[in-house]
Amino acid sequence: MEIPQYSTTIPRTTGNPRREKKRIFPDSHAFLVSKFYNSKAWKRLRDVLLRRNPIDQLELLERHVESATELHHLIKFADQANEAIAWQLFLDDDNIISVSKTTHNRIHYNSSELTDKQRVKLKEMKEKVVAKYLLAGVHIIETEDRNDNRSNQ
Ligand SMILES: [Zn+2]
Repeated sequence: MEIPQYSTTIPRTTGNPRREKKRIFPDSHAFLVSKFYNSKAWKRLRDVLLRRNPIDQLELLERHVESATELHHLIKFADQANEAIAWQLFLDDDNIISVSKTTHNRIHYNSSELTDKQRVKLKEMKEKVVAKYLLAGVHIIETEDRNDNRSNQ
């Protein structure tokens, strides 16, 4: 599989001098995230993916048809070692699934409400993404959600 090279299209400037100042701090998570989500590339991709997969992909596993209104990144892009890898993961459609707001909240904050089938599928999809990058010689950092309460069960 080919890994798309997006690094040359990383937005270099926000056009806002006050925000530009924040770029001095490269590990500002929130800034990276807002810069990515505000990019034209994301807005374009978001429309394409929601049009391509308008149904919640995890609910479909359970034979429920639910409109997808949000996109979830399987591997967290903002936790990567550098911005180029983060940007690649951010725009890699293999790393993105369409979900409803309810499913998205379950994934991030209440995974005990997901079915076993959905949890297994999520894990498989994540592993596929990690393997794809590994084959290309790129090491992906995989972090869990802090609010993941699976361990409490
Ligand atoms: Zn998400």
